[in-house]
This record gives sequence, C-alpha cells and structure tokens, in this order.
Amino acid sequence: MNPTNKLFINGEWVAPVKGGSFDTVDPSNEVAIAQIAAATKEDVNLAVQAARNAFDQSGWPELSGKKRAEYLRRIASLIRDKQQVLAELEVRDNGKPLPEALWDIGDTAFCFDFYADLAEKMDDEQEKAVTLADDRFSSVARKEPVGVCGAIIPWNFPMLMAAWKVAPALAAGCTVVLKPSEVTPLTALQLADIAREAELPPGVLNVITGFGAEAGSPLTEHPDVDKLAFTGSVPTGRKIMQVAATDIKNISLELGGKSAFIVFEDSDIAKAVEWILFGIFWNKGEVCSATSRVLVQRKLYPALLERLVAEAEKISIGNGFEEGVLLGPLVNGAQYEKVQHAIAQGVEEGATLLSGGKRPEGKTKGFYLQPTIFTDMSEESAIWREEIFGPVVCVRAFEDEAEAITSANRSRFGLAAAVMSADLVRAERVARKLRAGIVWINCSQPTFVEAPWGGYKQSGIGRELGEWGLNNYLETKQITRFESEEPWGWYLK
Ligand code: NAD
Repeated sequence: MNPTNKLFINGEWVAPVKGGSFDTVDPSNEVAIAQIAAATKEDVNLAVQAARNAFDQSGWPELSGKKRAEYLRRIASLIRDKQQVLAELEVRDNGKPLPEALWDIGDTAFCFDFYADLAEKMDDEQEKAVTLADDRFSSVARKEPVGVCGAIIPWNFPMLMAAWKVAPALAAGCTVVLKPSEVTPLTALQLADIAREAELPPGVLNVITGFGAEAGSPLTEHPDVDKLAFTGSVPTGRKIMQVAATDIKNISLELGGKSAFIVFEDSDIAKAVEWILFGIFWNKGEVCSATSRVLVQRKLYPALLERLVAEAEKISIGNGFEEGVLLGPLVNGAQYEKVQHAIAQGVEEGATLLSGGKRPEGKTKGFYLQPTIFTDMSEESAIWREEIFGPVVCVRAFEDEAEAITSANRSRFGLAAAVMSADLVRAERVARKLRAGIVWINCSQPTFVEAPWGGYKQSGIGRELGEWGLNNYLETKQITRFESEEPWGWYLK
C-alpha cells in the first residue's frame, strides 16, 4: 500500500514542500488512523504544473478514445480486485457500514468501466458535420478536452465522488488534480496508487491531500487550471464560483440539498416507510440528495408516522464492521456537533421530536446518533429549510396535490425529490412539476452512472454522470472551411 503522508504528483509519491501533516480519525472510536500530508500552495503549483505538462506535452489528449479506455478499464479492474480493502478503508475513514462501502466501491469500478465505453464511442462521435445555409462553406463541430481540471470533493462518498469526476475527465482526455476532503483522504490516495499500477502516464492524475483554505483554494485560483469540478457545500461552492469568475474558468458545481419526498394516501405503508428510511438514514443521512423533508397526505399521516417511528427505532447502530449495523457513526466531531445543534434548534423552534435525537445508550466513544424524526415544524423553521446532513428527517402532512407540489418546491435547493403513489399517472404528473434535477418515483436514492445527476437552484450548476458527465470535460470547437473556387470579393473586387 502507498504511504499516506505523501502527495501523488507527476506519477510519484512526494513529501509536501512545507512538510505539514494532519491526522485522519476513525469516527467509530475517535482514534487517529493515519497521518496525511497537508499540501500548500507550493504543492498545488507542482501538481498543476505536472497536469499542465501532461496535457500539453504527453500526448494524452491526442490518444484515441480506445486507448484511453484501456487505461480506464485497467483502473476499474484494479479497483474491483481491491474492493474489500478499499471498502474497509472507507468504513474506517468515513464510518459507513461495510455493505454500503462495498456497494460504493463496486459503483466506483463500474463508473470507470462506463466512461471507458464512452471514451471509445468518442472515436466515432468526436466530429460531427454541421449543415450551413451558405454552401460555399463546410463546417464540423468537434469535441475536445477542456484541459487541466481541478477536482474538489467531499467526504460522504469519498472514492465514488472521486470516480464521478476523474473517470469522465480522463475519458475526455483531460488531466486532473484531485483534492479529496481532508476528512476522508484515504481512498483517493489508493486511487492514485491504482493509477500508478495501471501505468497511467505521469501527471495525468495527481492527488493532493490537505485543507480547503491551504490546498483547495490555491487550486481554484491557479491560472493554469482550465476547469473546476466541485462537489460540496453551498458556501464553499459560492466561494469557488467567485474565484472562478476571476479568469472565467469553466465550472461545474454539485452542492447541497433539502429534498422532499411526497407520499400520497394511496401508497402502501410498508413500502413508503422502507423508502423513507432509506432516503434519510442510508449513509447516516450524510447524502446530498437525502429526502429529509417528508410530506405525507393527511389520511395516511397518523398510521405512517406510527410505523415510521417503530421501524426507525429498530435500526441497528454501531461500528460499520459489525454484522447487521445499518447506521454508523457520523463522519467526525464537527459534523456531530453541527447535527446536534440542528436538533436543538428544531426543539427550540417548537417542532416535536418524535423519535431519536440522542447519543445511543452504551456508546461512550464515537460520533453515534439515533435516527431522528421531527414533526409539527413550520415551513419557515430552520429544521425544515436548512440542510442538516445527518440522520434527521422532518415530516409534515398535506391535503392535496397542489399543496404538496408547492411545499416541495418552496426551497432554495433543488437537487432531488421523490414521489410515491399507486396512481402512476399522478406520480408522473407530479414528477414533472417538481423543481429538482433528480426525481424518484416510488423509491428514493437509487443512483445510476448512466443517468444525469445534478441540481436546480442553489443545488448546483451542470450535470454529472452519463453522457452529461463526459460533456462537462469537453469543449466544442467549430472548424469551418471556405470551399468555393470563387474569390471572396469583399476587398479585392
Ligand atoms: P465542504 O464544502 O466543506 O468541502 C468540500 C471540499 O471543498 C473539501 O475537499 C474541502 O477541503 C474543500 N474546500 C473547502 N473550502 C474550500 C475553498 N475555499 N476552496 C476550495 N476548496 C475548498 O463540503 P463537505 O462538508 O465536505 O461535504 C458536505 C456537502 O457536500 C453537503 O452540503 C452536501 O450536500 C454536499 N454534497 C453534494 C453532492 C452532490 O452531488 N450534489 C454530493 C455529496 C455532497
């Protein structure tokens, strides 16, 4: 395994210029598990320089899609070979239950394979003839890689979020400087080592670990970075957008959410409860698309709440390595405090804390929190409006379809939404009226690399995944040719 206290720049493991480091902590017991290199501006400069050289001089962007696909497939296969080890690292770094981590790593490998297929397709689809009204000219539209990409990612799906950016960027022919979250850097470092093992040319993928201000910020400011791809919180996204404006960098932003789940009265209670639980307690609720605002039609409301509380209280909480655990510890102390603050604020605002909200009995160490259910909050309350990013769900009743749609859309976010009804005509109608980038019908959360992912409103700009994810890393060039034998005849008559 690679050293964790080094940075991966130009195909080599190097010590950070200023020699700084920090610990990454296991959230199940609050014990430091690895020392991580803290990159600064000097390291960012070296990493960007390596990515710039690889883009301008190594021939990477000029390789055929078929050849780039070979590298991506090799990376996918190495990830698959190491699935268990990588998943275990994810559990130790992030706290998620092992089955969820295994699922993430499987998806990570699949993401590389998927973009390998799209890279191959690019060979046939890179240039497209454009029909011009003036037949003295011919024209083609050509897709080309954007250039050097700075990829900055959060801590909730550490390796998967890296893949969502690195795989399409490499498929497109870009080179990358990846900065994982300082909270969960371990699997991004493994990805670097896998890239080395796959013999990816030096400088095509560089991984720098460190904090937002010291490592993230210089990456966003660097004039040699052509594109910034960011996933994280709205405040950081706002800062990145402001910095990117300085030299008009191409940006894509995947930000926060407060997604609604509308449950109509004709829904099956057991199915509704299962998807509500999955929608908010999967990955400890540390999910950007978590359906944290549940709207239940009045007639179903009392029975559904009763069943929801009963099932939530059965959820097994513990270390992600324990058999049967469905809720691991929150990612770190800061997040734990943030979520507890939101819960206290909800109580102060007058909402009813129906279930959970406390540290589970018997857990003296680790950032454990019970699954938490609130009701009776106003639409103006912070607990209903603001992203909590933890296992906290708010439930309100509604009377009719129009009210549900208005309430769901009354948010500054617009990442995801879900709707459940036995009446599919109604469900489809409502799905089309919801102002969100992802709408699930009769489920919540299943995510597919083939389908577009991204938000409306303050949930972001642009789309990841599928062909849309590849387009994020492509420029479109027109090449137009004057075909006529006749002179142009404007100046020279
Ligand atoms: P965050 O914004 O605190 O940090 C994200 C990344 O940005 C980290 O790598 C951090 O080091 C870096 N960063 C911080 N300040 C920076 C700066 N000034 N310049 C450059 N980089 C900087 O977010 P987080 O707490 O890691 O993640 C949680 C947030 O991410 C939530 O709001 C969640 O909704 C969002 N998220 C969104 C999606 C999506 O697809 N829309 C997916 C996962 C998470």
